[in-house]
Amino acid sequence: MSGPRDWSPGEPRRPGVVRRVLPVALAFAIIACGTVYLRGDLQGLIGTAPGSPRSVAATHRLYAATRPVGGRCAGLPRDPDARAGVTLRALARCLDGMWAASLAEAGIDYTPPAELRLVRVPADAACGKEDHDWAGIYCPRERVVNVLVQSGGRAAPMMFTLAHEYAHHVQEVSGIADRRGSETFDEAWSRRLELQADCLAAAALRVVGPRLLREQRRMAAADAGDPDGQAASYRQSHGSGASSAAWIARGQRTGTVGACNTWGVPATQVS
Ligand SMILES: [Zn+2]
Repeated sequence: MSGPRDWSPGEPRRPGVVRRVLPVALAFAIIACGTVYLRGDLQGLIGTAPGSPRSVAATHRLYAATRPVGGRCAGLPRDPDARAGVTLRALARCLDGMWAASLAEAGIDYTPPAELRLVRVPADAACGKEDHDWAGIYCPRERVVNVLVQSGGRAAPMMFTLAHEYAHHVQEVSGIADRRGSETFDEAWSRRLELQADCLAAAALRVVGPRLLREQRRMAAADAGDPDGQAASYRQSHGSGASSAAWIARGQRTGTVGACNTWGVPATQVS
């Protein structure tokens, strides 16, 4: 049995074929152009844009880990300021333990950073970047955490920096920071990544350093109004001081990874 045919193969094609095919081709071309032109809007509709509750980073299984991340850190020296390097290495070992437990809860294997590099000058960091204006930096390719250690400096801000860079490592090993998807990896994406690292750092330090987190929130909130060019570009990629303070407060209050889902909230909360 054969189905209905538009025309007999033996006969020359009739002009009606062009009339039938042309509208389909035109419609296809319009959809294709529209897809390119409206890419951002369509991503929002389909759910792949950062900020969409269905984006890959927003629905990551790590958010299902419900126990608070942070616990005590037995190896920390009594006076954390005496030798900041010793304090940071002890904290790093605790952070490895905390994150291994949290990721295991979500069925994800945790591997510690390849190296913790405590540097005196930014040029000694492992990333080889030109940008030297940082207190800490994570090199995703090398999986190296770098923290700038100033001699005689207080340990508290360096401890927060270490926990923030560790959070970037967690984003990397868990796949939250994966850049191979269809999302747009612009400054808005960077703000969500950075503010999540602030929140995760606070979740990890909530038992170890509640005072240093309060101090960090105060410093972030005070930073809000500076219109200077460099500070403005930092806000573009890392979020405003007010946003940072809000996410640190959230991480400190709840301690869970799920509360640090910066990828599923409206843009106003990650400005
Ligand atoms: Zn960062």
